[in-house]
Amino acid sequence: MHRTKVTNVFLRLKKFFPNSRIELKFKSNFELFIAVLLSSRTKDAQVNFVTKNLFSKANNPYNMIKLGEKIKYYIKSIGFFNRKTDFILKSCNILLKKFNGKIPSKRKHLESLPGIGRKSANVILNVAFGFETIAVDTHVLRVSNRIGLSNSNNLRNVENTLDNIVPKEFKISCHSLLVLQGRYICKSKRPNCKICKINDLCKFYKNNL
Ligand code: SF4
Repeated sequence: MHRTKVTNVFLRLKKFFPNSRIELKFKSNFELFIAVLLSSRTKDAQVNFVTKNLFSKANNPYNMIKLGEKIKYYIKSIGFFNRKTDFILKSCNILLKKFNGKIPSKRKHLESLPGIGRKSANVILNVAFGFETIAVDTHVLRVSNRIGLSNSNNLRNVENTLDNIVPKEFKISCHSLLVLQGRYICKSKRPNCKICKINDLCKFYKNNL
């Protein structure tokens, strides 16, 4: 896609979602870290539902370890809660031992923590530390391919493509803009192309007129 067209896509998305940000709720980098870890294969709304109570009991690695297996009681309504409890406890131990209880700001350190892969690390680097990383989840993948920004089902390929073509001024909000577009307009089963602000720029729309 031509650079001017890419810029137009993001200008319009930014206008439509002026205060774009991720929808996970958190008050600190630690809470963001836990929310991102829990959001794997789970909707943000479900994560926010469980973290409200969880964070009132434990909002730092030390208290989370103290809570121990009782974490399961708070997160049992979300998928893979046994596995996620294990990841939380192991990660909190590492945070205390290696990082002074703080969330590290380097990719290699984040990805060394159980339950944190590249996509999660990208979200944390972007949201907590302001890096221009672009996390590619199912929404970002689908929307990018439909618009014609990318053409691949490989998450890493799409991340690299977006990294190359998205203008610098939109990189920091790229993830949240594409997620919001995917969640509210360009839905998986029934994209709402009629009201979509970028339909004249979209490859999918053009091919399905
Ligand atoms: S025109 Fe349709 S397919 Fe294209 S981005 Fe908008 S909602 Fe998605």
